Amino acid sequence: MKHVLVVGSGLSGLTCAIKLAENGIRSTLVSPYPSERAQSVMAAGGINAAIGADDSPLLHADDTLKSGGNIAGKDTVSELCSAAPDIIRWLEALGVVFSREKDGDLILRLLGGHSRKRTVYAGAATGKQIITALIREARKYECCDLIQRKLGRQFHSALIKDGRCYGVLLYNDIERKMEAVYADAVVIATGGQNVLFGKTTGSMQCDGYTVAKLYEQGARLKNLEFIQYHPTTIETPQKRMLISEAARGEGGRLYYLDGKRKVYFMEDKYGERGNLMPRDVVSKCIYDAPSQVYLDISFLGRNLIKNRLFEVAEVCRKYAGINVNKKSIPVYPSVHFFMGGLAVDRDHKTSVDNLYAVGECASMYHGANRLGGNSLLTAVYSGQTAAKALSNITENKVHPDFSEYISAQEQVLNCQLSSDSRFSAVYMRHEIAKLLNDCLGITRTEEKLLEGIRSVDYLVSISNKLVYDSDVSPYIGYSLPPMLLLARAILTSALARQETRGAHLRDDYPERDDKFAFCSVCDYNNGEHRISYIEEDKL
Ligand SMILES: Cc1cc2nc3c(=O)[nH]c(=O)nc-3n(C[C@H](O)[C@H](O)[C@H](O)COP(=O)(O)OP(=O)(O)OC[C@H]3O[C@@H](n4cnc5c(N)ncnc54)[C@H](O)[C@@H]3O)c2cc1C
Repeated sequence: MKHVLVVGSGLSGLTCAIKLAENGIRSTLVSPYPSERAQSVMAAGGINAAIGADDSPLLHADDTLKSGGNIAGKDTVSELCSAAPDIIRWLEALGVVFSREKDGDLILRLLGGHSRKRTVYAGAATGKQIITALIREARKYECCDLIQRKLGRQFHSALIKDGRCYGVLLYNDIERKMEAVYADAVVIATGGQNVLFGKTTGSMQCDGYTVAKLYEQGARLKNLEFIQYHPTTIETPQKRMLISEAARGEGGRLYYLDGKRKVYFMEDKYGERGNLMPRDVVSKCIYDAPSQVYLDISFLGRNLIKNRLFEVAEVCRKYAGINVNKKSIPVYPSVHFFMGGLAVDRDHKTSVDNLYAVGECASMYHGANRLGGNSLLTAVYSGQTAAKALSNITENKVHPDFSEYISAQEQVLNCQLSSDSRFSAVYMRHEIAKLLNDCLGITRTEEKLLEGIRSVDYLVSISNKLVYDSDVSPYIGYSLPPMLLLARAILTSALARQETRGAHLRDDYPERDDKFAFCSVCDYNNGEHRISYIEEDKL
């Protein structure tokens, strides 16, 4: 029986496993933690589909392309937007209870950069509702072994020979050993690159390691320089807490104080819809504001806040001690989403045969900047698309002998497990995050990017020689050298794009330049990072 290994059990991985099972293909779903703890659960704002009377998939696609700086593929985006209404129906059929008007119609929310109301949501827990419904659906197939779950497993590396993937080496964190799993195809669904940047709005399970390691192993990456800063977050000692765009979608207003006068700078600059400009625009304006920026939702009234913005109110109460019914929220932009990742074709196949990527770890659809509500949509759509393509895979009856490679990795692991080194792997992760935050902020310059590259090159030169402490999971230690490579690839991509587009803002190249009206792709070969520019639909 055909067998697919899916690494990562958030929204995209779960969708893919369910759709494979519907086609009678067996899958193994591996992740360190259960799906209930994936980042997808944190999504609150909603998921997009053109279902309003005044809307159409064409308008949805136009907004997506425009907000993405017109470098995403027209065909792929248009297919995504056409599929969106059916995706909402599928989720409803699985039991997701989306919020509805009194007359029974789905409530549609307006998020930044959209020309129409098209974001459906499930109270304050859209992601949680969707994941819960999918977990229930997946259980049906777990009962008949069409889906098998392996928890406590972390990706170590892919088993690749002559450009073809035969399976994956996993680190089993429970038994502290390596485990090889062979499959007819592998789907990577490991989410964004949050840990690279330290404190972000996202889950610390998403560290970018899988993307980094696959890059080291020869997979092509794309659009790495496009890192989305969400305009409205609050700071806590552990991480940045998101103040959902829904707050502005429901009417919330941004302002700063000039003496005692409130300056509604977004409305002054962009008119009535100013607070709902795309995220890249709002983040830059907040960054340029002369003093602290606040978000005011108090005037919306207790009822609306309770019914539609409950989660925003709770986050502010719990993490900042703010009663949003009475006080404005001080907000800061923060790293939130990665438009870049593994380069994939229309079937979501990477540049390595038999290796697919879905969800946030894959780069597709969003171009230079993502629209709110489009990520849950692409997580489901990409999972479905990959599963459909995989219905035609052939069984890998034999695979090459990887035993030498596996035993070499086991030796490295044992060396780390028995290490008495005091060099902290966690400290090293903090250093990388500090460096990237410093060089890849909301705006960038050649000088800063070159400084970042020099520092990363130094860390690369020492990281392979270091043995890290065994106080934490050895995963943290072995993930560092590839993550430094990924950091280098991001910096190199940002340096090469000498223009301002979407979330990539260059102080030294403040204009858009059509020479760069393409996706950037990054290849790693013999220690060299090579950047080129390609039309997305031609990838
Ligand atoms: C606070 C917040 C709110 C958001 N709100 C919205 C919203 O309202 N609408 C919207 O469209 N988008 C939203 N997003 C973005 C959206 O949630 C994500 O982009 C999307 O859920 C990603 O799904 P995924 O399946 O790609 O990854 P995830 O849900 O992140 O799942 C990744 C999986 O991979 C596993 N994994 C990670 N590393 C490894 C490894 N090395 N080995 C094995 N497994 C691994 C994880 O354990 C997890 O199971 C929000 C994001 C955040 C942070």
